[in-house]
Amino acid sequence: MTTIQHSRAGRRQATRRIRPRRSPAAPLLVLSWTGAAAVLWLWWHNTPAVAASTAERMVNAGRITGLLAGYAIALVIAQMARVPALERRVGSDRVAGWHARTGRYALCLTVAHVVLILYGYALQSDTGIVAQTVSVVTDYPKMIKATVGTLFLLLVGFVSAGAVRRRMRYELWYYLHLLTYAAVYLAFWHQLATGDEFAANAAARAAWYALYATVGALVLWYRVLTPVRLNLLHRMRVESVVQEAPEVVSVLIRGRRLHRLGAEAGQFFRWRFLTRGLRWSANPYSLSAPPRPDLLRITVKAAGGHSAALAGLRVGTRVWAEGPYGAMTAARRSRGKVLLLAGGAGITPLRVLFETLPGAPGDLTLLYRARTAEELALRDELEAIADERGARLLYAVNSPEGRRPAVTAKMLRGILPDIARHDVYLCGPPGLAEESYDALREAGVPRRRIHHESFEF
Ligand SMILES: Cc1cc2nc3c(=O)[nH]c(=O)nc-3n(C[C@H](O)[C@H](O)[C@H](O)COP(=O)(O)OP(=O)(O)OC[C@H]3O[C@@H](n4cnc5c(N)ncnc54)[C@H](O)[C@@H]3O)c2cc1C
Repeated sequence: MTTIQHSRAGRRQATRRIRPRRSPAAPLLVLSWTGAAAVLWLWWHNTPAVAASTAERMVNAGRITGLLAGYAIALVIAQMARVPALERRVGSDRVAGWHARTGRYALCLTVAHVVLILYGYALQSDTGIVAQTVSVVTDYPKMIKATVGTLFLLLVGFVSAGAVRRRMRYELWYYLHLLTYAAVYLAFWHQLATGDEFAANAAARAAWYALYATVGALVLWYRVLTPVRLNLLHRMRVESVVQEAPEVVSVLIRGRRLHRLGAEAGQFFRWRFLTRGLRWSANPYSLSAPPRPDLLRITVKAAGGHSAALAGLRVGTRVWAEGPYGAMTAARRSRGKVLLLAGGAGITPLRVLFETLPGAPGDLTLLYRARTAEELALRDELEAIADERGARLLYAVNSPEGRRPAVTAKMLRGILPDIARHDVYLCGPPGLAEESYDALREAGVPRRRIHHESFEF
């Protein structure tokens, strides 16, 4: 499926137009912290005097942590709404990292809120903590729902802790994670019913409703309606399955008007194959060839149940896709010269960038790391692209004794003496990615010019 279509003059012209697209990460972080400051202001505005007694101080701290928890939970959901501006310009892996960090804040704030409020109330009314807890849960409005919601949140936090998650099947973790939506719904109502900040302040109530309604609308639009529309419009089916290397297959997917997806080289979709055993999981795989109006291609290395099962897909199987996602595209580039550094399945997005990134002969270098020469997938295509474009293609495979060639600053400078003036696209297994990142930094490549996509989130 190699489609090389760039004339040299066209490429040179395109290279001159390279203007990196700015990531909206910094403004979004500022906006998020501004929101947190506004929430604190809401508490301050509604607190006539800062309390003197321990009990009142605890209740106040409980109110602050409760408000901040409510705000953080709204952010957690917004971060997973798959908003294109985030997924395509910040990057899905980075957004998933924000989501995990905000989720940890939200959990800690929720626990602090529960403990401080209950302890503060118990001190105020001079009752035991257990009696106070029972009274709050059963007597206060909407508190039974909120308690169930909090338990759901704690369960989601527990299964997301690294050690627990690593022992669980991805799909089980994912479906338990969806309990977060139920938790948010259940906990929302007690905030308005019991929160002093909202009871007497209609503007604050309206702002809180607006926050949650916006987040709900984002989720409904981007996680439900957009994928439904996409799949009704494009009606994708498996066209063929091709063996590329041991345990590596390409799946060609035919559909209607696929150019309208707006997919760029380097991006990925979440793929659900509507056949027995595969319909309940949507796994991320990058495009491994430039998208055509009637055909897309992914190339997949068997890593577990889903990826291994793709080799047995039948022609005509219906496909449900969500995307495109991912920020590792040409828009990130800021320099004329580019090094593409791939390991294992990480070759897939980089193979498309190798073919499509604008560049004159000598501008592009692809370094492809695999354990053995047999494991180098898409090799014929890579060599055809390198010939056509005057690009450099280098392989790094283990020695016959099994020794692994390390990616070091010295090795990189040996290949490209001007490596520090390159943009680098990096995609591969975590070990290789970390080793390469450190080597690139040591070789003088600035952080902002290393574009990395993690295959794990
Ligand atoms: C952005 C991105 C692009 C990718 N592109 C490619 C590609 O082009 N070619 C390729 O061979 N591999 C690619 N991968 C990796 C591929 O998604 C996983 O190897 C595959 O999903 C593993 O699923 P499994 O059931 O075969 O294995 P499992 O043993 O179930 O999973 C192995 C690991 O893969 C991850 N994983 C599993 N299911 C999912 C899921 N639904 N969503 C996210 N992560 C999951 C988890 O970290 C899990 O621990 C990509 C991953 C990401 C995040």
